[in-house]
Amino acid sequence: MTSITLVRGDITQQFVDAVVNAANSSLLGGGGVDGAIHRRGGPEILQECRRLRASHYGKGLPTGRAVATTAGLLDARWVIHTVGPVWSATEDRSDLLASCYRESLRVADELGAATVAFPAISTGVYRWPMDDAARIAVETVRGTPTAVEEVRFVLFDDAAYETFARRLD
Ligand code: ADP
Repeated sequence: MTSITLVRGDITQQFVDAVVNAANSSLLGGGGVDGAIHRRGGPEILQECRRLRASHYGKGLPTGRAVATTAGLLDARWVIHTVGPVWSATEDRSDLLASCYRESLRVADELGAATVAFPAISTGVYRWPMDDAARIAVETVRGTPTAVEEVRFVLFDDAAYETFARRLD
């Protein structure tokens, strides 16, 4: 049975087996969560991302997929990089956002991670409305069979935390 917990805080400060990164398909870093993870995790993460890009993802990691690297200096063993969809008002991309959570949990299971911290994928630069993103995140984690014992949603501000808390009820 997977327990879902909520924390208001910084995902780079979590003691967990795996931290999920809201990456972009280049795997070469960016702003938001991605920038914070690389800053605090140090250059080893980017080095491994570069190697993965060269060996497997020359065209980029596709949206909805996930791949793991070392966590460098973070208090975690792995970073799982996943690429969220950009919000669209005209196209339903919910399944791609759900896929980020499913694929990240699948990778976590492959690694043997018992505790996994997720940010609110796609809700920053990619503009997904927080309430809908929270619904998809909670429904998908609840609906995905996994050996992960704790899924921790780490929300950066009070509004995001309250939104996830309502969806978890
Ligand atoms: P995306 O490109 O997928 O939208 P962002 O990193 O821009 O990803 O934002 C995703 C969410 O993560 C936003 O809600 C943002 O407020 C939040 N966020 C930004 N920095 C951190 C952090 N250090 N820890 C947790 N959440 C963060």
